[in-house]
Amino acid sequence: MLEKGLVQVYTGKGKGKTTASLGLAFRAAGQGLNVFMIQFLKADKIGGEHKAAKILPNISIEQYGAAQFYKKKEEAEKIHREKALEGLKRAREVVMGEEYDMVILDEINVVLDYNLIPLEEILKLIGEKPQKVELVLTGRNAPSEIIEQADLASEITMVKHPFSQGIKARKGIEY
Ligand code: ATP
Ligand code: MG
Repeated sequence: MLEKGLVQVYTGKGKGKTTASLGLAFRAAGQGLNVFMIQFLKADKIGGEHKAAKILPNISIEQYGAAQFYKKKEEAEKIHREKALEGLKRAREVVMGEEYDMVILDEINVVLDYNLIPLEEILKLIGEKPQKVELVLTGRNAPSEIIEQADLASEITMVKHPFSQGIKARKGIEY
């Protein structure tokens, strides 16, 4: 168990934010910590992390996003907002509960940037989290208020990405 859990932020335009948080989860799990990851804005569970988490007893992942194929923008936004609020409720439960040592809120910075949930709610969660919980927040465009509250913030710069060569997301690497 951690004596003092910190708040970590991974942001920026380069690849590696979700990857970094999964690396943390893997390392933490190896040391016997219990990890809970909430993925905002994602809904398909196609990622390799979901399969790996089934094998590792102390990593759990849940998704709170809308599926890709809504016809109308307003409809998609409404569902994203509802799901994000559900995810926030779940995040509160797992952070405040006794069970988890590390809680990862994947893409939460994007959720805040899109105003799907109020920034105050996450600032409140940071302020109220139990001492032992390590809280990890990922996603582009982290609000400055979040960075101010964090103990660690890394901004990943996009120097090169294979997408610009037309290389699409690869199974086992990007998902
Ligand atoms: P990853 O999940 O690979 O660590 P990430 O969390 O840093 O990426 P996101 O902003 O969440 O980045 O990106 C979502 C998807 O877009 C991922 O499949 C990611 O690999 C890909 N991606 C990340 N950065 C770029 C970029 N600069 N150009 C194109 N695609 C990108
Ligand atoms: Mg990501």
